[in-house]
Amino acid sequence: MNENGMPRRRFLATGTVLAMIPLICAPGLSVAATNASLRTSLKYQGKPEGDKSCANCAQFVAGPTKDLGGCKIIPGDTEISPQGYCIAWTKKAPQ
Ligand code: SF4
Repeated sequence: MNENGMPRRRFLATGTVLAMIPLICAPGLSVAATNASLRTSLKYQGKPEGDKSCANCAQFVAGPTKDLGGCKIIPGDTEISPQGYCIAWTKKAPQ
């Protein structure tokens, strides 16, 4: 038993189950998130710069909806607008 009166084995099992909840729940969930520090560093803006936008940037990753996506160089950000722009814009190769 530990100091809380809970048997050690049960205490460890409960901790293991609780630790696995994010692993079980995370796949398939789309949780919106932004990477504010990198957005600031790259001077991300939610509007195009002339004809340059995330939609025609090589780094853009289309998201589950046409309104939002991601960026290969801004990890953890799922709210990149196809209409956005940043200083790392790189022309997407013609397809
Ligand atoms: Fe948009 Fe910049 Fe990422 Fe290109 S590098 S997709 S312009 S945020």
